[in-house]
Amino acid sequence: MTSKSQPPKSQPSKSQTPKSQLFEYQLDAASVLHQLGTDAATGLTADTVARRSNSDGRNELIRSQTESPWTMLWRQLTATMVVILMGAAVVSGLLGDVREAIAIVAIVIFNAAIGFRQEYRAERAIAALEKLAVPTVTVRRGGRVQPLSARDLVRGDIVLLEAGDIVPADCRLLESIHLRVSEASLTGESAPVDKDIRAIATDVPLGDRHNMAFMGTIVTYGRGVAVVTATGMNTELGRIAAAMQTVRRELTPLQLRLERLGKVLAVAVLAIVAVIFSLGLLRGESIPEMFLTAVSLAVAAVPEGLPAVVTIALALGAQRMLERHALIRKLPAVETLGSVDVICSDKTGTLTENRMTATSFDLPQSHIEFASVEPGSPLGSAIQQEPDLALLLLSVSSCNDARVEKAVPDASGLDDSLHREEPVRREEPVRREEPVRRDIGDPTELALLVAAERWGVRKDEIETWFPRVAELPFDSDRKRMTTLHEMPSSDRAFPPALAVLEPWRKTMRGCTGVAFVKGAVDRLLTDCDRAWIEGGFVSLDDALRHRMAATSERTAGAGIRVLGVAFRPLDALPTSVTARSLERHLVFLGTVNTVDPPRQEAKSAIQQCRSAGIRPLVITGDHPLTALHIARELGIARESEFTRGDRALSGTDLDRLSAAELDDCVERVAVYARVSPQNKLDIVQALQRRGHVVAMTGDGVNDAPALKQADIGVAMGITGTDVAKEAADMVLLDDNFATIVAATREGRVIYDNIRMFVKFTLTGNSGELWAIAIAPLLGMPLPLLPLQILWINLLGDGILAIALSVEPGERSVMNRPPYRSGESIFGRGVGRAIGWVGLQLGLLLLAIAYASWSRGQAEWQTFVFATLAFSRIALVLTMRSDRESFFAIDPRSNPALLVAVLTTLTLQFAVLYVPGLQSVFDTAPLTEGELGACLAASTVPFWAIEVEKTVIRSRMLHNRSGGE
Ligand code: ATP
Repeated sequence: MTSKSQPPKSQPSKSQTPKSQLFEYQLDAASVLHQLGTDAATGLTADTVARRSNSDGRNELIRSQTESPWTMLWRQLTATMVVILMGAAVVSGLLGDVREAIAIVAIVIFNAAIGFRQEYRAERAIAALEKLAVPTVTVRRGGRVQPLSARDLVRGDIVLLEAGDIVPADCRLLESIHLRVSEASLTGESAPVDKDIRAIATDVPLGDRHNMAFMGTIVTYGRGVAVVTATGMNTELGRIAAAMQTVRRELTPLQLRLERLGKVLAVAVLAIVAVIFSLGLLRGESIPEMFLTAVSLAVAAVPEGLPAVVTIALALGAQRMLERHALIRKLPAVETLGSVDVICSDKTGTLTENRMTATSFDLPQSHIEFASVEPGSPLGSAIQQEPDLALLLLSVSSCNDARVEKAVPDASGLDDSLHREEPVRREEPVRREEPVRRDIGDPTELALLVAAERWGVRKDEIETWFPRVAELPFDSDRKRMTTLHEMPSSDRAFPPALAVLEPWRKTMRGCTGVAFVKGAVDRLLTDCDRAWIEGGFVSLDDALRHRMAATSERTAGAGIRVLGVAFRPLDALPTSVTARSLERHLVFLGTVNTVDPPRQEAKSAIQQCRSAGIRPLVITGDHPLTALHIARELGIARESEFTRGDRALSGTDLDRLSAAELDDCVERVAVYARVSPQNKLDIVQALQRRGHVVAMTGDGVNDAPALKQADIGVAMGITGTDVAKEAADMVLLDDNFATIVAATREGRVIYDNIRMFVKFTLTGNSGELWAIAIAPLLGMPLPLLPLQILWINLLGDGILAIALSVEPGERSVMNRPPYRSGESIFGRGVGRAIGWVGLQLGLLLLAIAYASWSRGQAEWQTFVFATLAFSRIALVLTMRSDRESFFAIDPRSNPALLVAVLTTLTLQFAVLYVPGLQSVFDTAPLTEGELGACLAASTVPFWAIEVEKTVIRSRMLHNRSGGE
């Protein structure tokens, strides 16, 4: 297979000695291992790892150009408006008041510093999130298999690859079991490439190096073992990355909308400012003074920082979500989460604990409780009574990739607990020297191993008698797994624990191979034509098939997971191993029934979804009845739906529906079972066609399209594949449904906070603009001086508004419907507040200004200045919530706001009463009475909003009681 586009040819990597100019793919596996000083069975030693990571650095593609803090600060200081303002200040300083000019420059720099600090924090938060998104790999080091962050890989590491992994570095393959890799990202070739381990004699292009796996490519099928030959920027991907330009971070939809809005507002503000400037000149004000006022006003009122505020709110929000085990991979997701109105969830592990335990076995003629064997009873004693069960347990232990290891941790200093996305579970806590029990692999398979061991059938023993020669790995389309084994020759007698299988071996005489199959029982039964009953083959007629199907349906209906088991005798080991050749004419053995309890917290999370206007759906690969049972227990499928005859739709049902029928179904059906990844994609698309904003979970390699299609793709952190994580917007570090709900709550809070920020800053700014624009029309001089305008801007937009962005959220945030996607930021009262509260504030300031100015009071501007500053404090306090009264909110719930309010008050009193500052800010000390009057007047907009909130609350109450 040739590649469509050829990347630059490989240079000899560091692993090669100068003597040999051959590339790794041209050498046999043993030579590559030798060159890299490693061992396939044990991996690298801790010393070599330390040395190599020192010399080669981390295994990462160096991010080309993150903005340095200095550049960020410089950008803030050199924003066009800021530069114009500083220029104007300097000019006016030269012409007149030098102190004022210096104060203006100081305030501007201080403002820029606040902006810089926020942006820097956001940048750091995003960078930290990006680091966490690095996948984990399974490596063999110091003789044991362990999970490791892909960044810590070094040359010579032995990595274990399986379907769904993203290849973590360039590797030479040592073992390939049907390994198939999609190299589209590197070569452009869209069909996955079959991999093997044979050396290639000639020099071939990347796409033809079938014994290599390259960083960033995707394992789509099978599994393999490989040795790392190059890491980081020395990989093929690294070479391309080095040549690429920096990737621009994309703006989120809300940021884009706000950026556009900011531009419109800027034009409007500049037009108003131009009018104010002209009116001032007509009144005979000096040109430099008017110019300075106009520019100060423009700097204060143009909301140029809006998109940045969104970044900050999203980045810090993502950080808070991480504390709740939701890792955001794509920042816009934080914003979209606030609009999610359907959550499609897997069952296993998300709604249930993924703690499988085998409870019973159903053989064609008998039902055996797992608990009928006491733990600690003599190994193998019980199984002697149950030869048919012994065969079933032999099958599930052989057709099984899980492992239970007992290992003493080595001193390599590699502590698995450091890795968040840990695929390996172990019992905790342990002291370092004690043997650690490490359960590795799929929980279903682990449960089978544990069950078999309890009955005395041990995997390690079986493996020596029935060596595995080939396999068809589990995939979520086939919903089964098959392994092919050699039959042991009858010359050697079985050990006592397996002696019970002797009659079966006799029956299999003449067969050199056997295939063991386990998987979804309903489908398995259709591929069986015989059953194994009491030591012999029995034809699987319709009656028997129906009886077995009915038994498993009954079990599934009780919420128990039923796994079917079968085998296939083979006269000769087949040369080609395919589902078609192996998974037919099977002999049915029985079922293993496992329970997986629902998660405790899922039930309340589902209730929360309902009150928040979010519809939870289950989309599972499991049996419809098992799925329905769990859905019912958790409140996803409700009783009333059952009485109306509602049911779980299966993948087969879905395949039969037209697009229009599916669109109709998705509004009614809550449980989808035995679905394929394609069904998942169809369901998401149908929901989206109906206007829903969908969050969808997934873990498998084939789930990527559905995860990408969903508005919020959610991957499992523990059980998910790299591919699913890569495609997802969010990774659940604890695989828990409740975490998705917590993240949607956080998304709503963040959106609320952004809205409040916009509402607060624009209301204050519009009040200020009204007052300054109308004053000259009443024949008054400008009611605020340039420095005062900038000061108010610093207090209001710089200190108070920022504290609003960390509000913890209204109590009722999950008791109202989600935001509509693309909903105007001015909706739900924001535009109204900016309009009428802004106007009210402007008129209030004008009234104060006019009353005192017309009476000839010298300190009339100080009244306006003080009232405006205090009113912004009052506004921030009431604007914390859209509905809840200021008096009902715990003042301690946002400590940042408390600090901001106290700081603002202190600073404002300082400019009013500290003599040095009075002369800079042109303020006159207010008497107690005057101060009291300013304070009282400043609360007018506060009370207006509080009254409005009371009306809103009583209307909501009325609507609710009317609806009941
Ligand atoms: P969910 O989609 O909610 O995670 P699930 O884990 O049951 O549920 P899949 O992993 O797609 O979904 O499994 C679908 C079916 O495939 C299971 O119901 C089971 O019958 C079968 N199955 C699951 N794991 C294995 C396995 N390791 N080997 C063989 N068959 C399996």
